Amino acid sequence: MDEKIDFHTHQLSPSSWNRFEECPRKYWLSKQKLPKKASMPASIGTVIHNSVEDICNINLEVVNTDKKGWFDEVCTDIFQKQWSKEKKTFLDTPRHSKWKDELRDKSFQGLLGAVKILLSKAGLQISETSEISYNSWKSVQKIIIVNEGTLFSECGRITGRLDLLVSEIKEGKTIGWIVADLKTGKPPELKLDNKVSRQLRLYRDLVAINNPNHPPLSVEGWYSNNQKVYIETGPSVINQAFEAWQKMSPSALPFQATPSEKSCSFCEWKAWCPSWWIAVNDGILTPGKMFRDEVAKLVRFDYESAVALFERLPPDGDEGKLQNSDYRFGAFLKDRPLEKLLEISIDKPDAELFLGSIRFDGKTAHLGDWSEIIQWNPLNNSKI
Ligand code: SF4
Repeated sequence: MDEKIDFHTHQLSPSSWNRFEECPRKYWLSKQKLPKKASMPASIGTVIHNSVEDICNINLEVVNTDKKGWFDEVCTDIFQKQWSKEKKTFLDTPRHSKWKDELRDKSFQGLLGAVKILLSKAGLQISETSEISYNSWKSVQKIIIVNEGTLFSECGRITGRLDLLVSEIKEGKTIGWIVADLKTGKPPELKLDNKVSRQLRLYRDLVAINNPNHPPLSVEGWYSNNQKVYIETGPSVINQAFEAWQKMSPSALPFQATPSEKSCSFCEWKAWCPSWWIAVNDGILTPGKMFRDEVAKLVRFDYESAVALFERLPPDGDEGKLQNSDYRFGAFLKDRPLEKLLEISIDKPDAELFLGSIRFDGKTAHLGDWSEIIQWNPLNNSKI
């Protein structure tokens, strides 16, 4: 490695690495301090992760553990506190959809799923959390070596967020360490996705680097949804990570865009990227059937009846310029998009707009809390 490189300029984490591989432009845009978009799956993940952290840290000496159902009560309190905190953060994020309180119970079940995996790792056969005693939770706390920590390579270039490092117990004895990554999304049917596998191995490699005298080390993905543990045994990825880090050096000019159905479908930076819109217009990407994104300008708007007429603006060149077209479509609006369009129609009625995730019913568009309207603002140079 070239020690003259200023490694403080950027760091590689498993998620930034994945983003870079999916589409280098997506990674570049994610570093431009653009307004972030909150998402419900990410928020649920945060709630469960933070709740598990708090539950692992329960001070058993100040809780009445003789009371029946004490653990469920503490768990519910912790979860509710984290749920409310995350809801506030979500709603305070300028770009957000609707907060779904109806997912609360399912998310709480996810938390209990993580608790049950912890119990099994401590060698306890407890199927109902209401049966957890002072001694059983103490046994769980005893196997936890690290609960939420940040990992770094020696040079600081590679980083990762460790959920849990726990002792591996067999017949009451510690036989090794388990690097555990808690997953709150959909569990895989057979084996781990390549990106998840690489992420787990990177965490394991970083723990090994930071602890040269470590005991036998294994790495596991803990899926809270089905309480299934996936063991990852693949080879080290640390050298690949350093190679990727080199390619991810900051640049004033945008990195190459590699539009594809997979990388573009959930990309939150479309309003700043001309490439996906060019790819749609060239027939390389399908526009989407029921839900689609559009780049358009406002032709007419009636706030009282919440209807608008838009004109699609196809791309003109490679840098995000747009041209007029004869294609117009009507739209019904409600919720935040309706208020946003009112604001735009007053401040910048001629603005070019990115309309994200609009629902089409025949030729008519519907915009509500599931969609967003922001100004089209292709970024061809770094502004930071
Ligand atoms: S919209 Fe597609 S091409 Fe553009 S940055 Fe996102 S993933 Fe890349």
